[in-house]
Amino acid sequence: MRRAHIGVCLALVLGVVAADYGRDRDTGEQASPGGVGYLIRNASLILTMDPHLGAGGSLGQLEHADLLIVGDRIAAVGANLAGPDGVRLIDGRGLIVMPGFVDTHDHLWQSLIRGCAADDDLNGWLNRCVFPLNTSPFSETDAYAGVRLSTTGLIDTGVTTVVDWSHAFNPGFVRGNLRALTDSKMRFVFAMLGAQSDGSDIIAAKQEFIDGNPLATLQVAAHPTPFLATHVADMTAVAQLLGVKLHVHLLENISQVAEDPLGVLQAAGAFALGRDLYTAHSIHLSDANIATLATLDAAVSHQPLSNMRLASGIMRYPDIEAARIRIGLGLDGGTNDTTDAFNNMRAAVGLQRAKSFAPNASPTVAAVLRAATLGGAEALDMENQIGSLTPGKQADAIVIEPHALTFAPLLRTVNQIVFNGQPQHVQWVFVAGRALKEMGRVQGVDQGELLKAAQIATDNIAPALQP
Ligand SMILES: [Zn+2]
Repeated sequence: MRRAHIGVCLALVLGVVAADYGRDRDTGEQASPGGVGYLIRNASLILTMDPHLGAGGSLGQLEHADLLIVGDRIAAVGANLAGPDGVRLIDGRGLIVMPGFVDTHDHLWQSLIRGCAADDDLNGWLNRCVFPLNTSPFSETDAYAGVRLSTTGLIDTGVTTVVDWSHAFNPGFVRGNLRALTDSKMRFVFAMLGAQSDGSDIIAAKQEFIDGNPLATLQVAAHPTPFLATHVADMTAVAQLLGVKLHVHLLENISQVAEDPLGVLQAAGAFALGRDLYTAHSIHLSDANIATLATLDAAVSHQPLSNMRLASGIMRYPDIEAARIRIGLGLDGGTNDTTDAFNNMRAAVGLQRAKSFAPNASPTVAAVLRAATLGGAEALDMENQIGSLTPGKQADAIVIEPHALTFAPLLRTVNQIVFNGQPQHVQWVFVAGRALKEMGRVQGVDQGELLKAAQIATDNIAPALQP
């Protein structure tokens, strides 16, 4: 019965999409910037991440299948699909197709401080590499250069949605940050640390850069620590006013346990946000803290590479997952020193195994692939838009070429995506049906100029940093 019901639902979804497509054609609208869309034909493996589309449980695996992108959406997935006139064909033989990665917590300007403070923990690293910039000039141009470098690296690795927790050092920085995010053509969530207690700066940024961009979403950022309690209360009120998520760092370093950040959030009224409370790191959670987050229906973003680098600890992934808390993966900027989403998945898997001696500890390969895509979308409450290759959703997808020295030969392809994947294996990246990486090359940027601008920016801010 259930299977039949799903079949009917699917047919309805496909029917609706086909009808919408027809309307697009009738009005002569150009469906996607590059033309009508893309038909990836006869891919060796498609991970739809939709358990109703394909085998393998949550992965939704289809072998020798096609993916049709029309306009900004997934139009269909399955065998022997026909594309509309003008669709661009991609020969999928030998290739892997899956949803783009969702990077649920990052600080994009921090590509400018890669390598800073090699042997410090979080507090030492902040003191040397981040806090000095609160009082030194950080220009719009420099912010733009750093964020553009990061977004280009993220596209290269197959990230299609990024959540940027912005330190928003000054108004010029905010403009440079948001201009670069906009120009990247990625889907982005901008979590802004407001400087004005009434949120007027956040509202101004929202009106100028978020409201008119269908790829953009706003969050409000805060850092729950006792000496910032008033600011946390202000930012909570702004998040409530705007109906957006409050995105906080939570219990990243063990020294923060004594500060009782969840108590700070509760006193600030942030528990009233419930599902709109969004916490990064969340490493040193007690059983009671996990129960609190579960009761609130808060989400957690996990940064394994960064946590390793800063000796922060290992998040209690299996316990948080068992409490049915939504978990996404995040890269966390300069503290992982790369923008490699594959490396981040490996770290998420490896840390739990190293800690528990259990080779099947959560996240497994299947679970980490889900966390890196649909799980991240769920943490953001964007799972109706992105995270799986379900017809009707936004066409945020990547194509992996596995015939590489560091990936081939194929034996257990799904496992190899996690254990062998690297950014250079990603051949195509689509966001809302637009190809941001094409035939292995990120589009729309001169990489030589990009690197030159980033070096100038780093040279500008470097004098403020501690040795
Ligand atoms: Zn962070």
